[in-house]
Amino acid sequence: MAKKQFKAESKKLLDMMINSIYTHKEIFLREIISNASDAIDKLCYRSLTDENVGMERGDFKIRIDVDKEARTITVSDNGIGMTKEELEQNLGVIARSGSLRFKDGLDEEEQENAAIDIIGQFGVGFYSSFMVSDKVTVISRAYGSDQAYEWVSTGTDGYTISEAEKDTVGTQVIMHIKEDADGEKYSTYLENWKIMMLVRKYSDYVRWPIVMEVEHNEMVETGELDEDGKPKMKMENGFVEETINSMVPIWQRSRAEATDEECIEFYKDHFHDNDDPLAVIRVNAEGMISYRALLFIPSKTPQQFYTRESEPGLELYSSGVMIMDKCTDLLPDCYAFARGVVDSPDLSLNISRETLQHDRQLKLIATNLGKKVKNELTKMMKNDRPKYEKFYQNFGMVLRAGVISEYGDKIDEVKDLLLYNVSEERMVSLQEYVDSMPAEQEKIYFACGDNIRRLLALPQAEQLHQKGYEILCMMNQVDEFFVDTLKTYADKPFCNIAVEDLGLESEEQKQETEKQEAEAKDLLAFVKETLGDQIDRAVLSHKLVSGAVCLTAEGGITFEMERYFRNMPGAPDHLKAIRVLEFNGNHRAYKAMKEAFDAGDKERAAKIVKVLHAQALLIAGEPLEDPAAYTEMICDFIQ
Ligand code: ADP
Repeated sequence: MAKKQFKAESKKLLDMMINSIYTHKEIFLREIISNASDAIDKLCYRSLTDENVGMERGDFKIRIDVDKEARTITVSDNGIGMTKEELEQNLGVIARSGSLRFKDGLDEEEQENAAIDIIGQFGVGFYSSFMVSDKVTVISRAYGSDQAYEWVSTGTDGYTISEAEKDTVGTQVIMHIKEDADGEKYSTYLENWKIMMLVRKYSDYVRWPIVMEVEHNEMVETGELDEDGKPKMKMENGFVEETINSMVPIWQRSRAEATDEECIEFYKDHFHDNDDPLAVIRVNAEGMISYRALLFIPSKTPQQFYTRESEPGLELYSSGVMIMDKCTDLLPDCYAFARGVVDSPDLSLNISRETLQHDRQLKLIATNLGKKVKNELTKMMKNDRPKYEKFYQNFGMVLRAGVISEYGDKIDEVKDLLLYNVSEERMVSLQEYVDSMPAEQEKIYFACGDNIRRLLALPQAEQLHQKGYEILCMMNQVDEFFVDTLKTYADKPFCNIAVEDLGLESEEQKQETEKQEAEAKDLLAFVKETLGDQIDRAVLSHKLVSGAVCLTAEGGITFEMERYFRNMPGAPDHLKAIRVLEFNGNHRAYKAMKEAFDAGDKERAAKIVKVLHAQALLIAGEPLEDPAAYTEMICDFIQ
């Protein structure tokens, strides 16, 4: 029979598995059992809707047989099985997870290290069997098929698939264990005690019974009587099938029965995360609806989290049977980063995705779980700030995006969880900002843009710095929407320093500016005339201290929003900021412009107008229409 070759990447990995120096080779059993358990989940799930399966929940099990003489460990399951094509697809190609991309140019040692990393992180499933085996045979019969197939491989030289005999649906993985060599005692894996230990260590919470023939020494009656007329006894060695895992899912156990460390181990294994989660949340609710939940806040954004492929959601179980693996209705959207499981005996098993959405019980759970997550985050924010900031860096966006998708009504839910930079190093919550406001400060000042240093250096910010008022740097378009909806926090109004009046002027100062403005009417009209459509108005500023000019956006649309709309295909043209060019009446540049204008030198006045306008654009982070012309003008002034 012709041998088929593994795909190149699989081959490379396989090669590394075979020669692996990875110290935790024992995880192979966990991986094989986990596949068996998944296969049973699939068939069991199917049996809910398909009467032909003909299996009861109690019929499913995983069986481990060890044959010391033949040096084999066989893991059998009565799960969904694999067709010939599936054997080929699933076992011939590795890492559909995309985790394996060997970079060209890595030397062998680097590749080995990369592989170890990957084994540690993902387990790499089925292939890990080759760390301890020199030959692996998989015999499988898929549900719905009468024909079984056998997949055999001794490693990198490829594999064969042929027809095989198997009476029942399911899969058998037969691992032929390597001979002891180079200080590796592979033979230990052929000891029952070792297998039992590994199952307890790694697979104890597997929901299906993992059974094994275990040796028992028992006193039995011989059938004869002794001199006293009592039945004679003898010691009998026998093998009895025993379930060696406790099967109780970890989330069904009390705190005393499962430590946080165990929950963390469960998380890492179950959700394929190499890092400890930032928080473990356990819920045991009784009342209108009873359920248990075990939630985790991951420490980093999973790959592809922000892409379309990523599907958030919690695993939903009913009494230990999985109903859905990504149920998004179990948590408010703003907490979509949380991972975990929810198990309620009150939910019907064959509930469909559609009915779930309208399920009142589920809504109750979601509200309650949302509260728990929020409490946990609030605690973290107070008690472990670095941890919270790490969380925020990763998932602050999810918090905010969730609010948008639920349109408005969840703002109150998350407003206390938001953080904003007030300097490059320091982040504060809205409450902290308000708490540290000087007594006379009336507004919450903020600026929007993507660069903290630039925002804090805005000419409009100078007065605020002088007074010791802080400015919240809002780096995301969503924030503007937020502030727009919130309007106030702790009764203090928000003030966008690039848009609104800072409200810092005294009556006298106001009158003074108005007077100046009246005097400058002609000059300001000249500015508008010179710049045409590029601005809507020119005014004398109330905001500037030492800066000469700034550009502010009046009305509802800010420069950030305008930029956002500009990049959005099909957005209407009129979604533009109303541009107001503000001059500092006390600045020498303004005075120079005024002098030229008053002296009738319109050419020079116009040049100054254009330069100042360009500077205002630069400061606001807006592109110059003609940078070359701008530099030309500056050069003219240098002469
Ligand atoms: P993973 O389990 O991470 O997807 P594996 O390499 O362990 O990766 O397995 C590859 C695929 O082979 C599985 O996703 C599954 O479809 C199939 N498979 C492996 N073991 C079994 C089994 N015992 N029964 C049915 N299918 C299996």
